[in-house]
Formats: sequence, structure tokens, C-alpha cells
Amino acid sequence: MLHNAIQRIRKPLDFSAKNHFANIERVRDLEKTIASWVEHVNALDLSGAQQQTVSQFRELFRQYDGKTVVEKIAVIQAAFHLLQELETTNVIPISSNTAELSASVRDELVEPSVNEHFDKFTTNGGLLDSTAVEEKPSSALPPSEPDVQHDLSLEIQYIKGVGPKRARLLQRLGIQTIQQALFFFPRRYEDRRRIEKIAYLRPGDHPTTVYGVVRRSGLTVTPKQRVRIFELEISDDTGVFTAKWFNQDYLRRIFKPATQVVLSGKISMNRYGGMEMIQPEYELLTTTDADEDLLHTGRIVPIYPLTDGLYQKDMRKIMKHIVDHYALSVEEGLPLAIRRKYRFFDLHKALQRIHFPENTDDVALLNQEKSPAHQRLIFDEFFLLELGMGLKRQHSLVHEKGIAFEFQGDLERYLRQALPFPLTSAQNRVIREIQQNMRAPQPMNRLLQGDVGSGKTLVALIALLSAIEAGYQGAIMVPTEILAEQHFRKISDYIQQLNEHLARKSHQDRHSSQEPIQPDLYLSAHNQQFRICLLTGGLKKREREERLLQIERGEIHLVVGTHALIQHDVAFHRLGLIVIDEQHKFGVMQRATLKAKGYNPDVLIMTATPIPRTLSLTVYGDLDVSIIDELPPGRTPVMTSRFYEQNREKAYRLIAEEIQQGRQVYIVYPLVEESENLDLKAATEMSEHLAQDVFPQYRIGLVHGRMKAEEKDRQMIAFKNHELDILVSTTVLEVGIDVSNATVMLIEHAERFGLSQLHQLRGRVGRGSQRSFCLLMTSYPMSQEARRRLDAMVETTDGFLIAERDLEIRGPGEFFGTKQSGVPDLHIANLIRDVKLLECAREEAFAIIRKDPGLMFSEHQAVKKALEQRWKKSLDLISIG
Ligand code: ADP
Ligand code: MG
Repeated sequence: MLHNAIQRIRKPLDFSAKNHFANIERVRDLEKTIASWVEHVNALDLSGAQQQTVSQFRELFRQYDGKTVVEKIAVIQAAFHLLQELETTNVIPISSNTAELSASVRDELVEPSVNEHFDKFTTNGGLLDSTAVEEKPSSALPPSEPDVQHDLSLEIQYIKGVGPKRARLLQRLGIQTIQQALFFFPRRYEDRRRIEKIAYLRPGDHPTTVYGVVRRSGLTVTPKQRVRIFELEISDDTGVFTAKWFNQDYLRRIFKPATQVVLSGKISMNRYGGMEMIQPEYELLTTTDADEDLLHTGRIVPIYPLTDGLYQKDMRKIMKHIVDHYALSVEEGLPLAIRRKYRFFDLHKALQRIHFPENTDDVALLNQEKSPAHQRLIFDEFFLLELGMGLKRQHSLVHEKGIAFEFQGDLERYLRQALPFPLTSAQNRVIREIQQNMRAPQPMNRLLQGDVGSGKTLVALIALLSAIEAGYQGAIMVPTEILAEQHFRKISDYIQQLNEHLARKSHQDRHSSQEPIQPDLYLSAHNQQFRICLLTGGLKKREREERLLQIERGEIHLVVGTHALIQHDVAFHRLGLIVIDEQHKFGVMQRATLKAKGYNPDVLIMTATPIPRTLSLTVYGDLDVSIIDELPPGRTPVMTSRFYEQNREKAYRLIAEEIQQGRQVYIVYPLVEESENLDLKAATEMSEHLAQDVFPQYRIGLVHGRMKAEEKDRQMIAFKNHELDILVSTTVLEVGIDVSNATVMLIEHAERFGLSQLHQLRGRVGRGSQRSFCLLMTSYPMSQEARRRLDAMVETTDGFLIAERDLEIRGPGEFFGTKQSGVPDLHIANLIRDVKLLECAREEAFAIIRKDPGLMFSEHQAVKKALEQRWKKSLDLISIG
């Protein structure tokens, strides 16, 4: 069997390569060994490609014994590459007594009918590992095996080489337990496999590894006594070489003459033209640990994220200890059928290899996080995420009884008649999707995505009208009070038009024999107008109590407010639909609160943060998704450009020109909590400066978060009524304000805003048919990320592209605000880069749920456990099984 044959030939090769090829001269007759091996392998049933690879072995080892050490090293390294090729073309047998299977047969075997068949082999460990048959299969280990520790929840402090002080440092990295350490992965890898001969060293940027024997060392002190330089001289059979460290006197005691050392670092040229290394990483080859693997040099070396006070070498030692002693105790969660189908490593093998790759591993793949070990672990993250999502969704579909709304669409029709414009086809499409969902007896959990200005509010309102027509109340929940006010204002405008229409209509109906409004219509049945109210913290006690009473009696149809709406003393008469704006600030908790209060309304979540479709399907796996991918007609894309202090004048000129033509301008200042007072001062001073020095001829208003609500309103309304030309503001106008005559958005300190925030702000202009401008005023210093954000803004106005870039720049955790929404953090998986794996994981997870919705099958017990561990609290919201 080829697999076994590969393992057999690995042994002499491994031995030769061990300890940076220290044993290479001790291996005799390798040419003969290889030749007979090739003969043996050729007798096996090989594919054409495999035969070719095997024949290269014989070529490679011709005259091996007569070669120099350097040549031999090259041969061995090439041999490892060939082996790797062989392995990747090799199909892994499912058991030692089964012949090799072709890929297609193997895939067929993954069908459910053969699950038990696979179960028999789960105890065989390492089966899917493409490089090694386990010498010690994990599950075959007796529990008392002395070398393998089992308690992964053990605190890291008790690990050899850690102790309380380092434990505190590790905690800063999020590592408290062994389990967490095992899943704390290297940031990158350095290739220190190749040992260079001293005579051939050249200065350069790439890290180089040198082996030598210590000749002498010494300490020198620079004239000003500031820097103490420890100088080490080593030699190999080709030359002498120097390394230097600063202020590390203790090294004197470490590098005793005649010690064998390996150094890794960048080569530079000293002022006499000699080669040297400054502060290299080092490793001593003492006789006692000669048989141990090299850790810091002579191999592919993991580089971990660190924190102040923690050093790479210490971290590496700690991780090595943990991986050696605990990786085998990590319980395999991924069902065998899946591991087999994708040819994934076993979990423990993936952990071992991601931390300490083998010398045959591909460094480039490792650094791109695309090595087999990475793929397996990334898949795991996605798989558990999707499984959790799928179970939630499944649970709500099966167990929760929702409302089957019954409505004819009368209110919707009246609203449409009252509107001065027709809805876009995208709006119509998502309205159909939403209404279909509302009519069904299952509860609706739907995400409504659409760029700023795509008309989500209107869509939400039509959904709410449908619920109201069916005899229920609706609510809109937003993250801040200001947003609540703005939403209220916007919806009130629409409602007013609707009410006028209703009034005219009932007047007409009374004076003609025309068919009256449907008798089951909630509004007409109560013979009243449509009533909407705002519920915020700013209300007077009496007012508030009155409104609460009206809500409880069902006299108010639609309530707008913050999340206080569902948390406190508010009782609804018949809450049927709740619309939540800006998903990222809310999450599953809110829905759980609602349910706990005895309501099970349909839920529509609106977000202006568009996410690529595949991603939203996956990340909000428990939600249905509707997307408005079209803006109302007549909008011209906003022209975006960057400005710096030195050309501020140009920006002002553009502003003046626009105002001259009767347009209006926003100027926005960043306001961050930590420097709130300073920022506020800047914004206030700037508006004074503008009013006095720059634009004395124009009308300038100012709004900021510290103002009283009435004052803010006054300013906003004045701007809307064109009593102001310029509105200076802190970010409070981010969402909601809607003045189509405004054509310039000047953003001060644009480098301090997040990408989606910038995009939202830009969405405040370009709402009319005139050409609009977004001016990004930037100042230095600017981070790399800030630069990328601004680039993205200038390059595109497409919200979906912006979202993709934002996701790239910020990473998924922050992007989705997973901390709030209950989605577990992704450690290495990347939603964009790894989208293929994500789709596979989703497919597999959902297939499992279809077959075994309660995760009751024996082969799903391990994954169920992993799931519970990974999702912890957020899964409490549902009960599986
Ligand atoms: P969003 O909430 O998605 O940011 P809004 O609902 O605030 O978008 O709509 C933005 C603006 O577009 C509003 O002034 C709204 O009246 C207008 N609008 C909405 N739908 C249409 C449409 N189909 N045609 C023209 N204008 C529309
Ligand atoms: Mg909106």
C-alpha cells in the first residue's frame, strides 16, 4: 500500500534531516534503500503521475553517497517535496484491510447509509491524515497514558514555564486555559529550515539561519556607556561569523566556547564589510537535548502574536509544551464522513501542524493561512457557526407559533396612492417577500438590507400597515433617541399623507354609493385615523403614562422608540410586527426579551450596512434576507474627493459656488467619547470661525449631541426649510436627516471615521437630482487603515463594495459587532477569503440538521458538545435536542 510505503521511506529521510541535518553523514547506503523502495512501490497499482514521481526518486539519489554534505541536504529536501506530491495524489485508505479507493468511490461512501460503516473506523485515529498513520491513535490511548494530559480547562498558569506572571500576560492575549492556548494560532511563520554556510551569507531582508560552534564572545560598552554590546563569534567549516545583542549581558553565561548554536535573523554588513546578525534568535544544541526537535531554528518557526513583556521564544516554548502534551486530548468534533469527504486532518493533527509545521510543509501556504491545517480549523469555525445558526432557525420554524396575518392590502394601496412617486421594482419585490412571510403561520425573522437612501423606511412602513390592517400593532425600534425622533418624523410625513387620503376617501364614500372601506379594516372599524406615537426618555411623566395607556388599549397603531420600548413598563394591546433598525446594535437578546414578555411578533430587521449576499445568508444564517439593490431613479452618484489643509481653500470655494446656486451644505465633525469635550469645542469654534471669517455672508447653524432636543430640532427644521445654508454638526446627523437640496457634505477629520459611517454620511447628499459632492478633509498622521478607508470612499459609491472593503479592513468580528449579536468570534476564518469553505460548511451543517434536527445520532454527539462549548451563552436562547 502506497500510504504505508511512504511512511516507511520517510524514516531514513527524517533521520537525515533531523537537527538541521546533523545526522546526514551517518545515513549509509541511502541510494540502495531508495532503489529497492522504488521497486517495491512500482509493484503497487500507481497512477501515471505517481509512477513519474516515484521514478524521480531513483534519479535523485543516484551516486548519493559520493555527494558533499551540501549536495546531500539538497537531495533530501527535494525528496521531501516529491513525497509530498505523492501524498497529495494518494487516496487515503479507509482502513488497513481495505484496498485503496478511488476518489469517486470514496465520495459515494460518504452517503448516510454508510455512516455506521465509518463509525467502526473512528477509533482508528489519524485515518484522514494524509501524511502519517498515527503511531498512537488518540482514541486508542488508555486514559492513564502518562504523557497525555486530559484536562483542557486547566488554567494556563499551571503549565510548565508559565506561572502567575506569564499567566497574566497570556490572559491579555485571551488565553486563560489550555484549550484557549491550543486555539491561539501563530500570526505567521518563518522559514528557518535551510541552514546557510557562513561563506555564502549575503546581506538581505529575508531571515537566514546559520549553524556554528562558539569560538569566543565578549562584552563591549559604547563610549557613552549607554549600550552594552554582547558580541558572539561562531564558525562552521566555511568561515567565521559574528552576531551582536544589545544590553543582554546574561548571554555571556549562555554561549560557552565550543557550544553548538543555530542563529536566525537578517544578515547585514558591518562597517568593515563583514557579515553579521543583529539580535538574532538563537538556539543551543546541547548534548542533552540533541534528540529533541529544534524549536526556534532549523525548522518552520511559528511567530505568535505577543504582548508587552512576553517574548517570542518563551511563547513558543509554552506552546510547544502544550501542543505536545495536550493536542491529543482535544476531542474530535467533526463527523468522520465530513473529514473524509474533504480529506481534512484530524483535529489534533491540525492543531499540531498549525503550531509546529513539519519541515515538509509549504511555508507560503502556511503564511496565507491556506495550509491543510488551516483549512481544517477554518472549516471547523464555520461549521460550528453554521450549525448553531441552522439549529436556531430550525428551532424557531418548528417550535414557535407565529402570527398568520390576514390583510387585503388596502392601507398599502392608499399609501401608494398618496405617494408622489411609484416604488422601485426592488422595493416591490422585497415587500412581496415580507408579506408572504407575514401571511405564513411561522414567525418571520427577516433582514432587510439596502443602501442608504434605497427606501427601506417605506418598505418597513408598508409591512407595518399590513400588520395594522390585520388588526395588530406595530413598533419600530432604533438604537438612539435621536434616530427615534428622526424616524418618527419621516414616518409621520407618510402617515399624514395616508390620513389625508383616508379622510378624503371616507368623505367620498359617505357621499356616494361606492363600496365602503373594508369593514374588517382595523382603522375604519374603530372609526379613527391612523395613530402613531414616539416613546422616548424625554417625555414628561404624565405624557408618558397617557401614551402607555393608549398603547395598552390599542388606540395607538404604531410606536416608534428605542429598545426601552420593549424592556420596561410598555405593554402592547396586540403587538404583531416589530421593525428593528440597524441590526448591528441589536441582537438575539432583544428578540429573547420580547418573547419573554409573551409576545411573539414577526421581526423585520433593517440595515444600511449592505453585506455581500452569500455572506449575509451565512452570517445571519438564522434570518431570511431581503435585499433592496436599486436606488430610486434620478439620483446622480456623489463625487467624492480628498482634501488636505493646504487646499482647504479649494473646498471652501466649491461650497461657496454651490450655495450661490441655491444649494445647501453639511459640515460634519467627528465626536468620539474619549475626547468629547475637545471635539465639541472644535466643532463650536469651527462654526464660529466659518460664520465670522469664511462665510460671513451665509446663514450657518450648529447642532451637536449636547444640545436640548428642541434646539436641535429647531436647527434641523430651519435647515430643512432652507433658512440655513450650512449646517455644522457632530455626527448626530449620521442617519435620518433628509434634505434633498443639500449637495455638499464636507467631513472634517475624515480619517477618524469608520468606513460605513463615512458612507452613511455621504448618503445624506445626492438625494435630489443635482450633482452632489462629498469632500473628505483629512489630516496627518493617518493610519494605514484610515488611508484604505478613504481610498475606498473615493473609488466607489456602491454600498455593497464599501461593505466588502469595510469587512476586509476591519475583520468580521468588529464588522458584525458579534459581541452584541451573539455570534461567536471567528479566530482564523475569514469571511471573504474563505468564502468557499464557508459555503461548504453551511451545506454540511444544514444537511446534518435536516437528517438529525435534534443532534441525537451517536455520530453527532461530539459535535453537539463542541457546539455547546463554542456557542456557550448564545445557545441558551434555544434548547437543542
Ligand atoms: P433608507 O431608509 O433606505 O435610507 P429612505 O426610506 O430614507 O431610505 O428613503 C430615502 C429617500 O428616498 C426618502 O426621501 C424617500 O422619500 C425617498 N424614496 C423612497 N422610495 C422612493 C421611490 N421609490 N422613488 C423615489 N423616492 C423614494
Ligand atoms: Mg433609514
